[in-house]
Formats: sequence, structure tokens, C-alpha cells
Amino acid sequence: MKVLQFKAGEEKHLEHEFYYMIDKRLQSILYFIAGYLMVVHGVELVITQLHRTNEEQDDIYRSHSDAEVQAAYRANPWVSVHQVNRGADVRVRWPKKLWPYKYLNREEQDEIAADLDSQLDERFEYDFGRKQTSVRHDVGRGDHIHIQVDSNTTTLMKR
Ligand SMILES: [Zn+2]
Repeated sequence: MKVLQFKAGEEKHLEHEFYYMIDKRLQSILYFIAGYLMVVHGVELVITQLHRTNEEQDDIYRSHSDAEVQAAYRANPWVSVHQVNRGADVRVRWPKKLWPYKYLNREEQDEIAADLDSQLDERFEYDFGRKQTSVRHDVGRGDHIHIQVDSNTTTLMKR
């Protein structure tokens, strides 16, 4: 059984980004999460986005559905952790053998996202505890869980 699943149709570049580009701490966290979710919740982790180019970042925010976000970005563009290989977007689904490609419903996803938050908070400290390693959001690309690590000094593994 493969622990890591990549979004259908994008496996090739996502696998390359996973093994060769992303921050090693993020790589370890994703591997941990995938195993944890499978064992504890019986679900598969699917990695849907890793690296983001400057053009992709512009595309997302220059045409963002929230006019305020769009204006703020146009006035002062910000860099996403995805652009510097410290961010991953993931979704969770039931194993294919049960229900082909069926993703969890919102309540099921809520429960898992909350558990993931506490599991990660117990183990990792992002920006001295001021930010979270896992963030649930729905920013124009559908409901998903965003996993991030900060610069070398501010995501620390707790003892
Ligand atoms: Zn993200």
C-alpha cells in the first residue's frame, strides 16, 4: 500500500516537488500525517498542491472572488509559503477500495481537521506558537487543509 497519494492527473510534478523541492520538515510532517490518518481514521491523505509559481500566485489573487482580498493583493502582493516550498494543500478521502474517489463530507472533514490541528500542535511549534502548522481553508479552490512550516528557526519539533 502506498502511504502517499497525489492528486489524480498531477502525480508526476507533485511527486517531483515532494521528493526534490519541498522543505524536509514539511516532507516529514506529510509522511507522518498520512500514516496517522490511515491508522487512526482509516482515510487516505491526498496531496493536491505543493510548489506554486509566481504566475500561479498572481492568477489566484488577482482574480480572487473576494474584492477586498483582490485589491489588497494588487496593491501589495504577498508571497505564499507555497512559493518558497514550505506549504502543502491536502485533502482526505476514503480509500479507493471502499468508495472510488469519494471525499469526506464537511462534517467528517471537520472532525479530522480538528484532530490534525491538535496532533500537530502537540508536536510542532510554528512561529513560537503564534501560527498553526495546519490551517483549514476554502480559498477559491474548494475546502482543503493547508499544512505549513515556517523558516528554519521558527518551526520547531517539540520534545
Ligand atoms: Zn495552501
